[in-house]
Amino acid sequence: MATLATSQPSASAGSADETSQPLIALRGVAKTYSSQRHGALRALDPIDLDLADGDFICVVGPSGCGKSTMLRLLAGLDVPTEGRIRLGDKTINGPSADVGVVFQAANLLPWMNVRDNIALPLRVGGRQKVPEARIDALLEMTGLSEFAGRFPYELSGGMQQRAGICRALARDPRILLMDEPFGALDALTRERMNSELQRLWMEARKTVLLITHSISEAIFLADKVVVMSPRPGRILECLDVPIPRPRSYDTLVTHPVYAGLAREIRARLTQAEARP
Ligand code: ADP
Repeated sequence: MATLATSQPSASAGSADETSQPLIALRGVAKTYSSQRHGALRALDPIDLDLADGDFICVVGPSGCGKSTMLRLLAGLDVPTEGRIRLGDKTINGPSADVGVVFQAANLLPWMNVRDNIALPLRVGGRQKVPEARIDALLEMTGLSEFAGRFPYELSGGMQQRAGICRALARDPRILLMDEPFGALDALTRERMNSELQRLWMEARKTVLLITHSISEAIFLADKVVVMSPRPGRILECLDVPIPRPRSYDTLVTHPVYAGLAREIRARLTQAEARP
């Protein structure tokens, strides 16, 4: 099985050492959108959140609560109106090769084949020579080797999304941010993609933050589930998922902590929505 060389020392999942510096630290991060036409809209209230190296964090919350806003701030695609976000000892103030992003739609360029789509961030990043072996390892890891020469329209939705994940990993980022990456897929494909993502994460040991509407997806994937309030988004709860890996959908729901955890997440979401 292909493995990926990673640029950081490996860390055990969810083993954030309380004394060590987090890989990413959000401190008092808030966002208000302003426009002349609509005035000010408070998307996020101040948020504090730490991501340790190798963490897998899932964020759940009602639509419009500011999840994507938080992800865009982490990706350096937008700037907070209050607070700051640190990556290691630097403040995030723009997109970085350390951070790969996957959105709900893979947005592959239709005139490029899979291999060229995956290599694109390397070319845009100024590499004269694309490391073909790395692209091969990514294709193999995501089961796309046979499809390297195909064009996006020749791929299923799940395959396009896998190519999107490869593209996000092309520059070997330390951090992978995923905004409902499997939201458009059917239930079974989604479960398969979750299993692949878990395997990929266990091999490559990235730090992942993934937004989802699915409580079961969050419990399947995460070390910690962050539950957000309706807008303006706040962090209501950060719940540990003490289920050993590798996890399987066949056994997940029968694990002794699953039902209680799912109930707790649902209760936090519904309590927050019921509040005037
Ligand atoms: P979520 O991802 O939780 O569904 P978003 O972060 O997309 O929520 O949006 C949070 C709120 O911010 C929503 O009310 C949305 O309309 C608003 N919003 C998001 N992006 C912008 C923007 N660029 N300009 C103005 N308002 C925005």
